[in-house]
Amino acid sequence: MTDQMRTAQPTFDQVPETGQPSGGLSIDFSADTGAVPMAAAATPIAFAPEPATAPGGPGGAASGADRTEAKVVIIGSGPAGLTAAIYAARAGLEPIVLAGSAPGGQLMITSDVENYPGFPDGIQGPELMALFRAQAERFGSRIIDVDVERVDFGSRPFRLWARGVEYRAQAVIIATGASALWLGLESETRLRGRGVSACATCDGFFFRDKEIAVVGGGDTALEEATFLTRFASKVHLLHRRDTFRGSRIMVQRTLENPKIEVHYNTVVEEVLGDTKVEGLRLRDTVTGQERVMPVEGLFIAIGHRPNTDIFRGWLEIDEKGYLRVEGETGSQIEGVFIAGDVHDHRYRQAVTAAGDGCKAAIDAERWLEAQGVVTASTATAW
Ligand code: NDP
Repeated sequence: MTDQMRTAQPTFDQVPETGQPSGGLSIDFSADTGAVPMAAAATPIAFAPEPATAPGGPGGAASGADRTEAKVVIIGSGPAGLTAAIYAARAGLEPIVLAGSAPGGQLMITSDVENYPGFPDGIQGPELMALFRAQAERFGSRIIDVDVERVDFGSRPFRLWARGVEYRAQAVIIATGASALWLGLESETRLRGRGVSACATCDGFFFRDKEIAVVGGGDTALEEATFLTRFASKVHLLHRRDTFRGSRIMVQRTLENPKIEVHYNTVVEEVLGDTKVEGLRLRDTVTGQERVMPVEGLFIAIGHRPNTDIFRGWLEIDEKGYLRVEGETGSQIEGVFIAGDVHDHRYRQAVTAAGDGCKAAIDAERWLEAQGVVTASTATAW
């Protein structure tokens, strides 16, 4: 952690009575979600810029700072990918992390993280990811902020292409995560982190005794609406149809909750407010009638999209679009491992993703040892 980060006090006006900040880092992670960061810059984090074309070229240097070959290549730089990198690097595997052009994963659009163990006072999501990254680099991970465009898992070494450069790996750990879906409104983007959130577990606490709304009709929306009643004085559940997609038990629990009011056939046309959420302009999909609902928070719970496109044709993808895991972290291809939200639609927490990354690195290292790629002495004590 830099001194700058330690002393930074981002200003944030969403929940003044709690004094909790909710943003303020100058990382452009807009490419991840098609949206802008949550607040004005306060704490710059120096992610090393990658050259337009990574040095080394196709099949280039196998060692050194510009190497493109590794025993392990990790795709993704959220908690799963960077934890895998920490473990792989400490085991002497000198991993390359292809971190994505918007590195850091979903925590880069999360404000205060209060449920990650070890931070009793909470930590900003981007700060937490900067710490993960520094720890991975400390042990020799090479982290490159590029998107993998194509893979060839047909033979070993596995091959991966990013920005015109070919990377080769004896083992691959996939930790590409999932992206929350958003409504796509300009006002939603502008007020993200200022009352608009896609994570009730992360941000619900800040809406104590406030009236808020949740959008969606699946299990996530039903679960989040129920969860949010612990804090909010009232939760409006806005669903675009007149029947829920979620499970019967969750629907029943929702309908029986006196703090939840369901609004069927209702869509959000605009989030109102300049610097924080002050209300919603809603439209009834049957009558077309519009109305304003005064709320201080809006939770979008319309699903996640796992980032699996480049693995189609190589790995099994389940009916919800997530990678299918074999055993703990394995895939259908020996030497290709899977960690984090790209396969997990159940827990989706930073700490579970990190645990998954740890497991994948250990499994990869043991597998490489069994293949004779590394010797037992290569590995350090975990
Ligand atoms: P789902 O895809 O199941 O539901 C998404 C909901 O959002 C739907 O009701 C959909 O409406 C609505 N929606 C989608 N796009 C828009 C939009 N642009 N505007 C307004 N509404 C929109 O996603 P979930 O995240 O809820 O669930 C994903 C999976 O995870 C499911 O299989 C679910 O069962 C599971 N899950 C399980 C949990 C558990 O077991 N505890 C908890 C959470 C999730 P419509 O219905 O009209 O399509």
